[in-house]
Amino acid sequence: MSDRTEPLLQVRKLRKYFVQRSGVFRQHKRYVHAVDDVSFDIPRGETLGLVGESGCGKSTLGRTLLRLYQPDAGSIHFQGQELTALSGGEMRRMRRHLQMVFQDPYDSLNPRHSVGNIIEEPLLVHGMGDRRERQARVRALIDQVGLPADSVDRYPHEFSGGQRQRIGIARAIACNPAFIVCDEAVSALDVSIQAQIVNLLLDLRQSMELTLLFISHDLSVVRHLSDRVAVMYLGQIVEIAPAATIYENARHPYTRYLIAAIPQPRVDSTPPPAVGGDIPSPLAPPSGCRFHTRCPMATERCAHEAPLLELITTDGGEHRAACHYWRETPGRLP
Ligand code: SF4
Repeated sequence: MSDRTEPLLQVRKLRKYFVQRSGVFRQHKRYVHAVDDVSFDIPRGETLGLVGESGCGKSTLGRTLLRLYQPDAGSIHFQGQELTALSGGEMRRMRRHLQMVFQDPYDSLNPRHSVGNIIEEPLLVHGMGDRRERQARVRALIDQVGLPADSVDRYPHEFSGGQRQRIGIARAIACNPAFIVCDEAVSALDVSIQAQIVNLLLDLRQSMELTLLFISHDLSVVRHLSDRVAVMYLGQIVEIAPAATIYENARHPYTRYLIAAIPQPRVDSTPPPAVGGDIPSPLAPPSGCRFHTRCPMATERCAHEAPLLELITTDGGEHRAACHYWRETPGRLP
């Protein structure tokens, strides 16, 4: 039985590495540190935004939470159950409660299946309702996500990008899930269409009491949708706080650069401060603070000692940052 007062999702020390082999006989093994020692909670009904540059491990984290990738270590506690302990069959049954909306709605929809079949598929997989009930549910879902009523017998290629994402969302909510991972769900869409899909997600969150993990590299979109925001760098969470705190009082230098890079109307031609260099290879993350190779505030200590995700305050919601010098960061973005 799940306790309604405990967080819907509790993640502790989650780790996911991928093996990369090289050599003539592929005998040399190296490990991509995609998700490394990640811990966080998501309370019921909350939207947690997850941001960071491409390749920082956001999507891998989202997929590992749903066990689309098998975690190497750590725990994922969901509605009173430990997901990492479930067998393959038990996890397949559990997926009814945990769903995903993907970035590219066209790639994730079978072009040979009608929209009605695509949306009905999860109902069939989980044995929900008889044929007539499933068809009624499909029609209700089509209406709920704002698609035309005649969509049921049409095919994905007949729809625009925004409409295809609505089909993906209808499929994701078909079984009344509690938790949805939205992986760059609006990134491939035009700005005006993005706003419509974000508003749809906001409506569904409220009407269905959904809990969301909203993954995006676009901080302005995340701000609109999220209650809290977690910032990821090279497989680790470096800052997590209520959304307003992240945008107005970030303490980690990396977060501050991400915020500064959000496009704004500018009165002068000065470019915004930008974080220098490329993200290092996750095959060999830097020692100490992983950001030290790019951080203008780095000291000798940063190269040797990994900072903890330290509690800064609980005023207005818990704020944590992984920087030895978080006390000194306000006003010091170079
Ligand atoms: Fe920069 Fe050091 Fe803070 Fe890391 S610990 S973010 S290198 S100042």
